[in-house]
Amino acid sequence: MAIWRMAFRVGDRGYDMWPRCHRLGVAAYRADPFRDVDLRQYSPGEPTRLWRQLKTTAKSSLRSLAYEVKKWDTIYVKQGTKIVGRGVVTRPYRFGDAQLLVDNEGFPWRHQVKVSWDARFEPIDIKLGAEPMTVLPLSGDRLHRLLQALSADASFMQARVRSDIESLKHEGELFEEGGKKRRFTSHYERDPRLRESAIRHHGYLCSVCGFDFADVYGEQGLGFIEVHHLRPVSTLGKRTKVDPNRDMATVCSNCHRMMHRTRERVLTIDELKEMIGTRDE
Ligand SMILES: [Zn+2]
Ligand SMILES: [Zn+2]
Repeated sequence: MAIWRMAFRVGDRGYDMWPRCHRLGVAAYRADPFRDVDLRQYSPGEPTRLWRQLKTTAKSSLRSLAYEVKKWDTIYVKQGTKIVGRGVVTRPYRFGDAQLLVDNEGFPWRHQVKVSWDARFEPIDIKLGAEPMTVLPLSGDRLHRLLQALSADASFMQARVRSDIESLKHEGELFEEGGKKRRFTSHYERDPRLRESAIRHHGYLCSVCGFDFADVYGEQGLGFIEVHHLRPVSTLGKRTKVDPNRDMATVCSNCHRMMHRTRERVLTIDELKEMIGTRDE
């Protein structure tokens, strides 16, 4: 799953097609010689007569959009010194309807991929270099700088936490025991508000081993961590209010499973630290 940076500006100082792309749920590219040419009918580089009319940067952008952007790739949208959008590709290249996406000159932007744009995304300030490329794959240093800017942005990270809560609902976190379905985690670990608040207090690093999901998994891991409830429900007594700061911790998935491996006895953070030698004496 590649990460792309795209821009939808017309000309050097022109207006931006981003609002229209956003509304239609597409990422699109304008390539004048290919106005009426559906690239699905050709292999990459054909017809050569038309490709020869494009500048190097335009060639690269159109080739990427038509042949390299894949389903489930992530696209970040650049507007000047900001990233203004994030989305996931839901369908690769298609030759769009000539009426649907048209710029102010009446020119149709028919080279498109279908994108599910993230409705919660807030613009982020970041300079990713001034490459003239409209469709640019991000890797190495450029990707690293984008990930750093995103992870420093509290609203972006919170939005990721909230979308994790949605997907956890589907995952269910259930296992079978003697024919009876039981939950792996406690009621508190599944509570969306406690979850969010625990992550706000304790951050995104595993408190047992220091694992950092973004560091290892890059964009896919940004904003992910599991939440562990420190007190067995039986010791809570009459106190029913859980304090996310004192009663909860953030841990990686490996450490979390190990803590809960023996159902009768949930390990403490210190016990697990002892096992893997991360406890400072
Ligand atoms: Zn861990
Ligand atoms: Zn737990």
